[in-house]
Amino acid sequence: MRSRERRASTANVLVTGGAGYIGSHTVKALLDAGYNVVVLDDLSRGHPEFIPGVRLVIGELPDEGALADLFSETEFDAVLHFASESLVGESVRNPDKYFRRNVAGGISLMSAMVKAGVKKIVFSSSAAVYGDPESVPIPETAPLRPMSPYGESKVFVERALGWYDKAYGLQSVSLRYFNAAGADPSGRLGEDHDPETHLIPLVIRAALTGEPLTVFGNDYSTPDGTCIRDYIHVSDLAEAHVLALKALSEGLETTAVNIGTGRGFSVMEIISAVEEVSGKKVPYTMGPRRAGDPAILVAACDRASEALGWTPKHSSLREIVETAWRWHTRAT
Ligand code: UDP
Repeated sequence: MRSRERRASTANVLVTGGAGYIGSHTVKALLDAGYNVVVLDDLSRGHPEFIPGVRLVIGELPDEGALADLFSETEFDAVLHFASESLVGESVRNPDKYFRRNVAGGISLMSAMVKAGVKKIVFSSSAAVYGDPESVPIPETAPLRPMSPYGESKVFVERALGWYDKAYGLQSVSLRYFNAAGADPSGRLGEDHDPETHLIPLVIRAALTGEPLTVFGNDYSTPDGTCIRDYIHVSDLAEAHVLALKALSEGLETTAVNIGTGRGFSVMEIISAVEEVSGKKVPYTMGPRRAGDPAILVAACDRASEALGWTPKHSSLREIVETAWRWHTRAT
């Protein structure tokens, strides 16, 4: 008899930050795939209503005592680690917060996993690890030259994971997200950040309120002068985590994988897509460039399909904007 909680046929996974935007969509995908999920979230930006019926432990990550308790009471097969601070601009102003929460938090988690003998982790990394790339699409082998403490914190944890594998056999997949966007088609889950800094919700807000969006720079060397990003539907991103877990359990070695579509859209193209879906005009003004924004970020996606068997299914710009629009205009 095991003294710790475990179901016979399902794998137990701990999801840190599981009440957040990408975390909650992934929890839904994990439940659909038959996993038994426990969420650890400090609710600083998470929404408990996004994970109904799921066991939620409220706690902050660097709290090693809380982690040890959690690992001693449930036998986890793997961890998905989303909990992190994620605002690039804020990280430049307040690196201390980012290194404490993202780096120290990540290390506490890895340390607790090693002590408990949990050997698999999927880590939320970011295209911010690349900084301003030499060429696009960006392969995973491109140099890691982050331009912010946020990006630096992701590089640090990725590298630490490599060393923890060598020393302790902790297998990891670091998923380097490009621009997560859209919402679950049910309209029950979506993007709800405060403050909101991401383009698609801000364009939708401008369409709904008439308050103009500021476009951050139209003097980049791109066809219309505005920045190009690779927008990936959050449900596709969630699916990548389920496939990464499966690949780890089938023996995939520690690696980092881009999660994007390989196709980029400019800020002006996003504005047009929102106008088309909503039937409303999006008011905007041209502003200066935002510090630290590279002109073009587009993923090379071969490794995602080769290593994980993943391809995006819901990431046409139309589906991204339609699901985001449905979420932002839902009756509350
Ligand atoms: N952007 C913009 N106005 C805004 C917010 C974002 O022009 O109010 C641009 C930003 O400069 C970038 C793109 O939209 O080129 C996507 O920005 P977001 O913050 O959504 O994601 P990031 O690429 O920074 O992860």
